[in-house]
Amino acid sequence: MTRSIELGTTDEFVARHIGPREDDIAHMLERLGYDSLDALSASVIPESIKGTSVLDLPAGLGEAEALAAIKAIAARNQQFTSHIGQGYYPCHTPSPILRNLLENPAWYTAYTPYQPEISQGRLEALLNFQTLISDLSGLPVANASLLDEATAAAEAMTFCKRLAKNKASNAFFASRHCHPQTLAVLRTRAEPLGIEVVVGDENALDDAARYFGALLQYPTSEGEIGDYRALIEGFHAAGALVAVAADLLALTLLTPPGELYADVALGSAQRFGVPLGFGGPHAAYFATRDSFKRDMPGRLVGLSIDRHGKPALRLAMQTREQHIRREKATSNICTAQVLLANIASMYAVYHGPQGLTRIARRMHRLTAILAEGLAALGLPAEQRHFFDTLTLASGARTATLHQRARAQRINLREIDDTRLGLSLDETTTQAQVEALWALFADAGQALPDFASLAARASDRLPAELQRQSAFLTHPVFNRYHSETELMRYLRRLADKDLALDRSMIPLGSCTMKLNAASEMIPITWSDFGNLHPFAPAEQSQGYRQLTDELEAMLCACTGYDAVSLQPNAGSQGEYAGLLAIRAYHHSRGDAARDICLIPASAHGTNPATASMAGMRVVVTACDARGNVDIDDLRAKAEEHKERLAALMITYPSTHGVFEEGIREICAIVHDNGGQVYIDGANMNAMVGLCAPGKFGGDVSHLNLHKTFCIPHGGGGPGVGPIGVKSHLAPFLPGHAAMERQDGAVCAAPFGSASILPITWMYIRMMGGAGLKRASQLAILNANYIARRLEEHYPVLYTGGNGLVAHECILDLRPLKDSSGISVDDVAKRLIDFGFHAPTMSFPVAGTLMIEPTESESRAELDRFIDAMIRIREEIRAVEQGELDKQDNPLKNAPHTAAELVGDWHHPYSREQAVYPVASLLEGKYWPPVGRVDNVYGDRNLVCACPPIEAYQDA
Ligand SMILES: *Cc1c(COP(=O)(O)O)cnc(C)c1O
Repeated sequence: MTRSIELGTTDEFVARHIGPREDDIAHMLERLGYDSLDALSASVIPESIKGTSVLDLPAGLGEAEALAAIKAIAARNQQFTSHIGQGYYPCHTPSPILRNLLENPAWYTAYTPYQPEISQGRLEALLNFQTLISDLSGLPVANASLLDEATAAAEAMTFCKRLAKNKASNAFFASRHCHPQTLAVLRTRAEPLGIEVVVGDENALDDAARYFGALLQYPTSEGEIGDYRALIEGFHAAGALVAVAADLLALTLLTPPGELYADVALGSAQRFGVPLGFGGPHAAYFATRDSFKRDMPGRLVGLSIDRHGKPALRLAMQTREQHIRREKATSNICTAQVLLANIASMYAVYHGPQGLTRIARRMHRLTAILAEGLAALGLPAEQRHFFDTLTLASGARTATLHQRARAQRINLREIDDTRLGLSLDETTTQAQVEALWALFADAGQALPDFASLAARASDRLPAELQRQSAFLTHPVFNRYHSETELMRYLRRLADKDLALDRSMIPLGSCTMKLNAASEMIPITWSDFGNLHPFAPAEQSQGYRQLTDELEAMLCACTGYDAVSLQPNAGSQGEYAGLLAIRAYHHSRGDAARDICLIPASAHGTNPATASMAGMRVVVTACDARGNVDIDDLRAKAEEHKERLAALMITYPSTHGVFEEGIREICAIVHDNGGQVYIDGANMNAMVGLCAPGKFGGDVSHLNLHKTFCIPHGGGGPGVGPIGVKSHLAPFLPGHAAMERQDGAVCAAPFGSASILPITWMYIRMMGGAGLKRASQLAILNANYIARRLEEHYPVLYTGGNGLVAHECILDLRPLKDSSGISVDDVAKRLIDFGFHAPTMSFPVAGTLMIEPTESESRAELDRFIDAMIRIREEIRAVEQGELDKQDNPLKNAPHTAAELVGDWHHPYSREQAVYPVASLLEGKYWPPVGRVDNVYGDRNLVCACPPIEAYQDA
């Protein structure tokens, strides 16, 4: 007799994603007084919203099965040779950068470097990026990346508006030779702000005085290289500022925008080693004059000193600018593109100035030879001067030529019915140039001979715009040109930092959970990497399936009816969501609705976004328990009922609590004609338990880089899709490459498409049951920490049942009064214990917000809790006078190895300083610098690589 054997998978993912084992879960539940996860979550989720989530998703796949399934999807994409250009170019990602940076968790699992002492490695890489941008653009100050070229251009437009002398103007000139996707995003951004974007030909401009600013493209989207000096001087004379969107690689050969008197240079760093990825993620850059640096959008890395007087890097000035300036912030950008900026900066470190120049020269030579051959075939390029891009007047043959190209797996740019475009790149070969000639030749026409044309073709860069100034002279760009050297440089930088590969990062609101290897593997497959975002739709069927399925899965997770994957960060999702609300009101003839209610506890991006969307922010109060003050909200909603556009509310609240009144709050807003925007950054507490689309939300963004496992990358990339109820679906962002064409919020139709496989893999491997379990564990872990720490530090807010959601706020203000020890001191002391600090002073000053996530094991939770208890004992010793009020391990934290071996003159021991718990003897993280001086850094702003002597002198 045979017996059937139950053959389950042996690589079930859920238990890999979730940290605690079964017996840990039982123990933790017991500690909280519950007998099951369901009983705990039933107690946490308010009655009124219980059961709103029905996760209609298939069961989870094993890791191997899921990888096979996504491989099949990827195989449906077709990799053609792309000559489309238009801001996106194939390039080589150097293998040591691919393996040691892009595929290395030490780099991709890091958080934004707000804690500079544990971030010196990635801060150095970003400073290299800023130096690269500043050198190539010829402008002294560059930021540490923006989201994409088109949004950088939109930021430049509002930047010009703030700073231009011509205050009377509301018109912005944009050259019609800019990339079309840039013009589209400019239009979206301008409309709610009342800015008029005038698209015109800069060569026929006779009304410069009409504008506060202008955007030019260099070289133009079609490939021409013009001398903008006179034009820019004309704008300046009229009180306008000028931004130049420039190709970074071309700037190795061309006079940089700064030397053409541009006020801003911006663009994409994609072709510095970052795959096309169907449009993103890529780092954008933004550089400007020194006098404008305090108005720059995005983040800026600056040099400061640590408490020993040694040079140390940190984020300068606008660190968390939105949290301070709220609706007056210069920009709403929070998550940017740090990982991609670091790839680009390492590409420059690896190639150096000569290597980059060689790449650019070779590309230009090939283009010149190509043009020469095309001319011989009777198809002269329209451009007199060009770098890597040609436009051909292909006339009646255009459609046929595209067809012929596609038959040979080549994509050309479709400019219009009678013209087509061609761009070459780092990967172009002689054979590909010859293939292009063959394509354009008529039957029987003799093909040009490469060798003889190569001997004859001359450069086609304008003589007066040849770059004269040196760039990348700093040693960092001239030292790591062998693979061994680069590998070790990357390792040395990574070793300076704390990322998730070393310890828990308990950042409230930021959800630093596992970024699983199986989720990450597909993103570097060429079937996802080598697609141009504007390639014909039939070539991206794999992406189509991926995005369709992901949209459906995210609808299931949120209870919404439709999803847009286009926004490339949470902030951009907020923006797209408010624009949808605005368009909805307008479509109903309700154009006066422009008031946005925002609770005082909101994340800073909320008010910053509302003002970008042309709304007026009205702040509503919170009560003593941290909940939205419903009476105040009702009063304000009624007061403004004629003009109420929206409420932006975070759920569970930024105070880490499931507010009981959420349904009532949504109803009040709806009753007064407003729409409800639920900020979904805290979705990690809700998936499978309750659904914002079912309890009153009209629209939410999700941060796929929080709840849905895309790594933080040290401050980006991110994806911030929005889900909407059906009445808002017609107002989701469109794109020239999509059915709905207007309202693009970023350059590519699917934003950061190439990292969407991460979330697809996560959801497919977890399945509905696994996702629900993850939320339950996130809640369990947070409550376990809160319960174990509450006798040592008061937990600021809890729900009616004494429970928190997926994070908890510890109130350190009483300790400040009794001991002088601040949240800063505790955060820095945690570094000595090998931990990244929790979120500091958000949403309440003087507190720490801890979010462990479901991925942390009980052992790691206990290690963290023990560190916090130990720190409390140290604080008590200060309170009781056993430790000096100033010279104590908390105030002096973190302690460096150099300090330890130097003259030790503190009243506490070296052991207490660096080995406060015995387990550290086995594995110790050594911060490379002591506590960084913030004030010094802002007073003495240095934002490019300092001369090497600065380090030697110190
Ligand atoms: C992280 C966060 C945001 C902003 O998201 P980004 O992806 O960083 O732009 C907005 N709201 C809340 C509550 C957040 O935690």
